[in-house]
Amino acid sequence: MTADSLRDRWDAIRGRVESACHDAGRDPAEVTILPVSKTFGPEVIREAVGLGLHRFGENKVQEIREKYEPLADCGIDWVMIGHLQTNKAGVVARLATEVQSLDRPKLAAALDRQLRAEGRTIDVLVQVKTSDEPSKYGLDPAQLPGFLDELADCPTMRVRGLMTLAINTSDPETIRGCFRRLRLLRDEAAAHGHDVPRLSMGMSGDFPLAIAEGATEVRIGTAIFGSRPLPDSYYWPEKNPEKN
Ligand SMILES: *Cc1c(COP(=O)(O)O)cnc(C)c1O
Repeated sequence: MTADSLRDRWDAIRGRVESACHDAGRDPAEVTILPVSKTFGPEVIREAVGLGLHRFGENKVQEIREKYEPLADCGIDWVMIGHLQTNKAGVVARLATEVQSLDRPKLAAALDRQLRAEGRTIDVLVQVKTSDEPSKYGLDPAQLPGFLDELADCPTMRVRGLMTLAINTSDPETIRGCFRRLRLLRDEAAAHGHDVPRLSMGMSGDFPLAIAEGATEVRIGTAIFGSRPLPDSYYWPEKNPEKN
């Protein structure tokens, strides 16, 4: 255990996000932090709720399912940010308030069907592939205009913006290029009549670059909750293809 508390880390990350906004000449009010609680149990999340947090990102459907009941009294908005299999769309349609990892027409169709059955409408972000790594999830940018056209008529999903994961590299310029690409795709979409203003990009290790490129939301796990017991390959099956 480290000596600092969840509150200290939350205060610290808010300060760092604020400085990144100032460095980028942006108003901190434009940038939201989405706490990513994956691998952390109900007790820790309840403590975070005590700090005023009520929206949490999860990478796996199974974790949302496990945490939902024990925290039902907290009024949490669960945000799905990880790869979503179509056969798990029903759980998400029932329990999540938002999906940021909508990355293919088949998944959109499955979610739409399940949301209709639940009588629910949710916000979605389209996850776009902004690097040339062959195995990453995310929609091919060339398919984005057509996908947004299709979703425009869908009453169960309100498309609010775009999401991406930067390439896995230590080169800041390459990472920043991914974030810039997402912003340009958003601007292009706007020019074609699709108002998708939100940009969910940046994590504990690279959020200042994302903020410099226009992120409206940064997804922060480690810097708030501490390091996770399992390696990232467990949560990002694209880095571990045999587990798909
Ligand atoms: C885990 C995760 C994050 C947060 O990562 P940290 O490096 O711990 O901040 C952000 N986005 C997605 C999709 C994740 O799975």
